[in-house]
Amino acid sequence: MKTLANIQGQDAALQHLKNAIESDRMHHGYIFKGPEGVGKRHFALTLATMLLCVKRPERTFIDGCNQCPSCHKMKTLQHPDLLIVEPSGASNTIKINEIREISKFVRNHPFESPHQVIIIDDAHTMTKEASNALLKTLEEPPHWVRMFLVSHRVNRLLDTIRSRGQFVQFKKLRNARLSELVDESLPQVDLATKKLAIELAEGSISRTLSFINEGVLERRQLTLEMIETLDANHPKTINDAVSVLLKSKDRAHASEIVDHLQLIIRDLVGVLSGTRILDDSRRGLLLKKLAESARLNDILKLRIQLSEAKNMISRNGNTTLVFEWLLSEFVDSFTFKKVS
Ligand SMILES: [Zn+2]
Repeated sequence: MKTLANIQGQDAALQHLKNAIESDRMHHGYIFKGPEGVGKRHFALTLATMLLCVKRPERTFIDGCNQCPSCHKMKTLQHPDLLIVEPSGASNTIKINEIREISKFVRNHPFESPHQVIIIDDAHTMTKEASNALLKTLEEPPHWVRMFLVSHRVNRLLDTIRSRGQFVQFKKLRNARLSELVDESLPQVDLATKKLAIELAEGSISRTLSFINEGVLERRQLTLEMIETLDANHPKTINDAVSVLLKSKDRAHASEIVDHLQLIIRDLVGVLSGTRILDDSRRGLLLKKLAESARLNDILKLRIQLSEAKNMISRNGNTTLVFEWLLSEFVDSFTFKKVS
């Protein structure tokens, strides 16, 4: 069950809603903003459980009782007074038809709870028509309605939507908290993998878990290993590296490999400017070797080329050609000395 105790590191957001509920001044529409995967949706669902519970005394900021029929329904999110809207379909957007469902939903009184709760997850994926259709409901909903828009890209929301919601800011999670959360959901993960995933995830638990689960860390290491195999005297090493790195023809995969290359460059800039100390892991040793054969100016140039590559991939450029170009730039930028 979603509980307040599970929301950690988001004190400001908790306090905001606590004040509003205890003083009976809850706004009808909130926009939960902040990085991806830090607990915004979780908090919205916790509030939904709280607001829909039929045993909760008014003006109390406490978890649902976990006993009443409403709380039971919330365990499976099958509650007649709850409506969750999220992106779907190939375009991964929220379309006008789904927003029309909201208008229909609020036309009825709540079935069994004191409120109706609407959660719009990834609200920035609403199409323009969908956003416009939402405006009226967001402006003057029936008094029992509470709406939570969840978004990690609020700058993509229409101004008219933004001006009608109350913002609640969520923050990046601290590494210690990420570590606890990983221990809870993936207790078998080894320490090195966990540390690396947390380092890459920039305060997001969903990113940390997907780094661990989806083989991202292995591909990150593979990318570095392939850079190390490049040899200026043997152009074939470039083609070989490209075919290993682009094993999957998927564009998202190619883009992820560019992310890994960007991290390698970030680390090398750190090493060469003395702000990053490497450890003796296999990755640390490989980076050290690359740093020794690199010139800072060339590395900075690579950084620009990597963002160009990223753009080309997102604009449907041929990924193989992009990578052949990119890796030959890598070869030119390093004096790859093969250790014999
Ligand atoms: Zn209850």
